[in-house]
Amino acid sequence: MSETRAAKGTVYLVGAGPGDPELLTVRALRLLQTADVVLHDDLVPADVLALAGAEAMVTSVGKRCGRPRITQSGIHTLMIEAARAGQSVLRLKSGDPLVFGRAGEEIAALQAAGIPLQVVPGVTAAFAAGASLALPLTDRTSASKLILITGHHAAGREGSKPIWSGPLPEDATLVVYMPGRDLGRLAAELLAAGLPAATPCAAVSHAATQRQTHVAARLNELPGLHCGPAPMIVLVGTAVGRLLEARTELQAAFRGFAEQSSQGARET
Ligand code: SAH
Repeated sequence: MSETRAAKGTVYLVGAGPGDPELLTVRALRLLQTADVVLHDDLVPADVLALAGAEAMVTSVGKRCGRPRITQSGIHTLMIEAARAGQSVLRLKSGDPLVFGRAGEEIAALQAAGIPLQVVPGVTAAFAAGASLALPLTDRTSASKLILITGHHAAGREGSKPIWSGPLPEDATLVVYMPGRDLGRLAAELLAAGLPAATPCAAVSHAATQRQTHVAARLNELPGLHCGPAPMIVLVGTAVGRLLEARTELQAAFRGFAEQSSQGARET
């Protein structure tokens, strides 16, 4: 296999995966090690950026965390100018670059400017969350559809139309990116859309990284629950029920254990 090296004058739109450097693709790693310029989103952690070449110019073009905002067109200009100056440019995005990452606008701008472009896929957050919980997102008997949507927290969506309307097909797993911190609001919207109160759900924070935490519950229990900090993703649907079964079995085992020990204590 020939080793990929970042070519001068080219822009690479690369997925960094969910944040664990081990979940970069080999191609993403090779491009990261050889690119002259790395323009990354805020969600790409320092552990991943540390793999960039020693000479590389590494710059955040994230639009959150209170930093002065760079506009989307500002990002396009940076990429185009660096490529025209003969640099190899890595546009590093969390997860997969084509999933909720405004890649369409970046690709259009690069194509309009005549800049050579390559896209390298990455592990998207939905798949990272499934893997980290050992939870199949589709299931031969119960889930044959996988739907990826954004919550209200997505830029430009606040206060706009509902994130989901109408009932969810029984055999679908719905994955909500950018759900916002307020799980109660998300649950209220999904209940208003007609999803049954007992629909299994799970919220996963920092999926597939060392900081991962998750909670699993029925849709009507979601408002009282707190998951870890952003980035967080929410999975909804019958397939998620496996996590609740596991929770129920565990609770039953604990109850059984507690009963045995209190009986044991009475007998001694
Ligand atoms: N292109 C990315 C998504 C960018 S939108 C991808 O394919 O994954 C940003 C949202 O992705 C976050 O608000 C969060 O909902 C989700 N996300 C990204 N990384 C995550 C992680 N490690 N754990 C949980 N959610 C994550």
